[in-house]
Amino acid sequence: MPRRRSDNGMKIKHLVVILSFLLASTFTYAQPLPKESRVPGGIAIIPLTGLNSSIAPSTWYKGNRVMVIPSKGTQYSDKSRWIAIAGIPLSAKADKKQHLKADTTSFYFDVKDKAYKAQYLTIKNKRHVEPDPEDIKRWRTEKAKMLAAYKSWSTPPQPTVQFSLPAKGPYSSPFGLKRFFNKQPRNPHSGLDIAAPQGAPITAPATGIVVDTGDYFFNGNTVIVDHGFGLTTMYCHMSKIDVKIGDRVNTGDRLGAIGKTGRVTGPHLHWSVSLNNTRVDPILFLNQ
Ligand SMILES: [Zn+2]
Repeated sequence: MPRRRSDNGMKIKHLVVILSFLLASTFTYAQPLPKESRVPGGIAIIPLTGLNSSIAPSTWYKGNRVMVIPSKGTQYSDKSRWIAIAGIPLSAKADKKQHLKADTTSFYFDVKDKAYKAQYLTIKNKRHVEPDPEDIKRWRTEKAKMLAAYKSWSTPPQPTVQFSLPAKGPYSSPFGLKRFFNKQPRNPHSGLDIAAPQGAPITAPATGIVVDTGDYFFNGNTVIVDHGFGLTTMYCHMSKIDVKIGDRVNTGDRLGAIGKTGRVTGPHLHWSVSLNNTRVDPILFLNQ
């Protein structure tokens, strides 16, 4: 009976279509979130269960204020009214409980170890590896200025929790690499490197306000954008800066151009994402 067999085939096909539609709608939420990854350099998403005030609980982790957004439209909406999105520092230890305080309530979470790879780079300008005392003095002043920008706290009407890419090009160095410059150990890689030609555009990955610009010893020409609720992004090694402090930018607006200023081996964008004054893996914010 060939006819019957083909009817069954059609029925199975319909069933597959209906099932995949149901699955897709079950896992689609109106409010996007970054990708959770409870590792050093990752992000923890914590439902603030039991805190039902109409005002977002003031939430702190390791002395820094943490982003809290309504859970409405997320997979946490039936668990709590608010969710905290906390950046976990690269220095966090897997054997130590992490403590988050929301108003007067404590929340605890664990982090898992993550083995980041090592990277060995050769830098021609020796002062970028072994800075002179005056370079160190300069760097300390610059670091304080950048730290103030990382600690920006603004409250736009819509929280930003996802980014589009700020430059077109292959990822040349991932976040978190253990770094050696001219064989000497240095701080781990705190951003994502995107390789692009000198002069190519760098654009805002979301709406925000420019909170810092400068020509820095290691980072070269730099821009920092505040996206609200403790989320900031930084752009380094630029050949040109096209914004100034106080400028409001929208997704896709030009910030400047790719360059090779500061400590580099060639033209690229060093893009870093900071949540609660903690550098985290930018990949977690990209809707891939
Ligand atoms: Zn970099």
